[in-house]
This record gives sequence, C-alpha cells and structure tokens, in this order.
Amino acid sequence: MPRRLVVGNWKMNGDSVTNAALLQSLMSGLNGSGGVVVCVPFPYLHQARSLLAESSLTWGAQDVSAHRQGAFTGEVAAGMLKDAGCSHVIVGHSERRQYHGESSDLIAQKAGLVLESEMTPIVCVGETLAERESERTEEVVFAQLDAVIDRIGADIARTVVAYEPVWAIGTGRTATPEQAQTVHALLRERLGRVNSDAAGIPLLYGGSVKADNARTLFGCPDIDGGLVGGASLNVREFLAICGA
Ligand code: PEP
Repeated sequence: MPRRLVVGNWKMNGDSVTNAALLQSLMSGLNGSGGVVVCVPFPYLHQARSLLAESSLTWGAQDVSAHRQGAFTGEVAAGMLKDAGCSHVIVGHSERRQYHGESSDLIAQKAGLVLESEMTPIVCVGETLAERESERTEEVVFAQLDAVIDRIGADIARTVVAYEPVWAIGTGRTATPEQAQTVHALLRERLGRVNSDAAGIPLLYGGSVKADNARTLFGCPDIDGGLVGGASLNVREFLAICGA
C-alpha cells in the first residue's frame, strides 16, 4: 500500500452532472499520478467506476453496513461495495459517530467486514473540542483505535487510519501541524506495538485541509496525507492538496 495518500470525502454532495465534470477535471489534472481516492455517495459509485476505470484514481464509499447481507433495509453491504469496484471504505467518520450513534465496537465490525471483502478501511478517530480541552485527546483516540485493533488484530496493518479532530471538521479551524503531528506520533507508536507493518500504515490528517495548509501538514514526519471533505469538491483546491 503506498504510504502517501489523499482521500476526498464528498459527503452528501453532488449529482451526476457535477460529478462527471469534477472527475474529468481530476483525471486530467492528476495526469496518471496515483495515491488519490474519491469517496462518493452510494448512488454514484457506478458512475465513478465507469469514468475512472482506466485512470489512476480509485473510488470508495463513505460507510458500510455492519452486516453481511439480509433484512437490513437501507443498508449497503461490504460485498456490494467490492462489487462496485471500491478500493477503500471510510468507517467511523465523526458524522456517523455523532449523528447516527455509531459506537467504536460497531465501527470495528465494519472495518472487519471491509477487510473480509478485500478493500481497505479508512478508520477515523478524533476527539471533540470538549475532550481536547479536558486533556482527554490521547485517551479518546486510543480507545477508538484499540476497539478496532481488539477486533481485527494484526490486520490493522491492512488499514488506513485518519486522525480527524472533530472540532476541525468542516469548521475552517485546522489543527496546527504541531497538534496534528503529536497525535499522529502517538498513533504510530500505538500501532507499532501491534507490529512493524502496522506502524507503517498511512496515517492521514483530516479537518479543514486546504490548498494553503496541506504542504505544511503533510510535511510533518507522521502525516502521510489527508482525508479531505469540503475542499475535495473544488477541483483547483483538491488538485493542489494532491500536489502537496
Ligand atoms: C471530512 O469530512 O472528513 C473532513 C475532514 O471535512 P473537511 O475537510 O471539510 O473539514
């Protein structure tokens, strides 16, 4: 797995016309360089597949069911995402934890099913502002990561971990490179206790990454790239972030 990685999280945005324009511009702007994934809403996975099949860009989903198949109305199974050609699946985004009450155990189950279907889970961890201000950042992100390690063990080496401080997501307020690097170093050390492969997985930073802060953030020793929300919808911004 390349360690340098930029993932665009489109969230619940776009339509087939705007998506096509965005994907075409990304393909020509990236000009064959790899290490870029776009996580699009479920209905557009097949559009991504038909447009990106011959490109260096890969596509993924923003969530997955914690069940393999069956009577789970409205849910989408990991096997279906694999069938739609996804390379990556985001699990445990703070918007899922916050608005859908997803627990770390549920997220760990999802990560396991994504791996079982031979895709890469992007496991999101991150503290709220109140948790940071009460100096609980380390405790919170370790608890979130450990739930996944407890379930999948050494397979954590087949994942990507994204540190996304909740207070920085969609707020325009970015963690300073020092704040982000401190948490990334702690996560790297924790992963290293599983094994050396786990210590080498891509660790992404997410939270108001923009063209003008990406280079400094990605220059930190333990930040391997970014999980990018809002700025991934703007071609110029996203290409500049990928270039960084
Ligand atoms: C995200 O959705 O994962 C994210 C980091 O959003 P934004 O870049 O808009 O803060």
